[in-house]
Amino acid sequence: MKKLALHWKIIIGMILGIVFGFIMNSIDGGKGFVADWVAPFGKIFINLLKLIAVPLILASLIKGISDLKDISKIKSMGLKTLGIYIATTMVAIIIGLSIVNAVKPGEGMSKETIEKIKEKYADNTGVKDKLNKASKQKDAGPLQALVDIFPSNIFKSFVNASMLQVIFFALFVGISLLLIAEEKAKPLISFFDSLNEVVMKMVDLIMLFAPYAVFALLANVIIAFDDTEILIKLLWYALCVIFGLALMVVFYLLILKFYVKKSPLWFLQKISPAQLLAFSTSSSAATLPVTMERVEEHVGVDKEVSGFVLPVGATVNMDGTSLYQGIAAVFIMQVIWPEGLTFTNQLTIILTALLASIGSAAVPSAGMVMLVIVLESVGFPSELLPIGLALIFAVDRPLDMCRTVINVTGDATVATLVAKSVGKLGDPKPKNWDDNYDLVK
Ligand code: ASP
Repeated sequence: MKKLALHWKIIIGMILGIVFGFIMNSIDGGKGFVADWVAPFGKIFINLLKLIAVPLILASLIKGISDLKDISKIKSMGLKTLGIYIATTMVAIIIGLSIVNAVKPGEGMSKETIEKIKEKYADNTGVKDKLNKASKQKDAGPLQALVDIFPSNIFKSFVNASMLQVIFFALFVGISLLLIAEEKAKPLISFFDSLNEVVMKMVDLIMLFAPYAVFALLANVIIAFDDTEILIKLLWYALCVIFGLALMVVFYLLILKFYVKKSPLWFLQKISPAQLLAFSTSSSAATLPVTMERVEEHVGVDKEVSGFVLPVGATVNMDGTSLYQGIAAVFIMQVIWPEGLTFTNQLTIILTALLASIGSAAVPSAGMVMLVIVLESVGFPSELLPIGLALIFAVDRPLDMCRTVINVTGDATVATLVAKSVGKLGDPKPKNWDDNYDLVK
């Protein structure tokens, strides 16, 4: 019998998790049961993915650069990648702003609804936590983000999983390896080559657990919903974000069809496990190992490209987040600060949403923290900030799940595009967890 494809197993896990979550929501003590006995399995899965992220970036980037054997190629690939990342993010923000200005989901929200939302969420610890984090971020100097890329202690970067610092270190080691005599470089290159194979195998093994993990993750998301009335009031706003994200998918698929000359459906099918995990975990960082495995082994992008483009993308390229930040900022202004909706302010939003999405961490709800900075850049009154965040808080999690899918899809598309442009897109060679199992069982 033909084995069920991984993405189907994951989809079944997700659907069962959602149904289970709703059932548990309606039973006395059900929420507690999910929190104590089901959610931890989702956490274990995310821990495992995070566990391998740092060794994976190190190994695949160092191996990739040493395979390139040409420093000028690294430079041109780097510039190309950053240029495309900025361009796709701009497209995302412009799509977001066009939709929110055309639909105007924030106009006509009644005073009672605003009052109700304010009462319920403005003092919420989640909202306060986002405001605190944003003010810490704001206190840093303008070049702090640049300084932060250069670690003084690489072990600290490993411990904190500071992705950009690990990428910088790997680039540094890789380039230095190219500059020493070949026979001296060889042992280290084979070490990282072998490490890379091992970590990729770990991804295959972890993925065996994915269908069960998404069950746990989604059941846990469902038990957190309590106020459907407010959710319905925010439906237009949520639909604007979802529609914008869907347009981004169309944009990526057009790039794939016309520039990369690959079938969009084929591409979606290949990367779907990464997209489904992005949806279930709301974290592009946690999804990164799977994105890398899918793009390398199933789409056929060479390690030289994916090893650089994907980790950088997971940290700096967040098209879904930037689109969301544009829509959320204007929506909040439409509801509580319409006088601020000038053309200049909207232009400012394009620029700050670009920077904010680069600065957002690849973890759940980071986009909302940086939204505060976008709002502040247009002079949004600070006393209204808690109400502004409260307005969108109730639907943030589901929208976070959706925007993370786009963040990951964007990274995978750009990796494929860059690979095509530098002649590094080959035939996929998928590996299975049990390829060598017969020899050792
Ligand atoms: N959760 C998103 C990610 O990890 C970031 C965000 O928009 O909050 O890509």
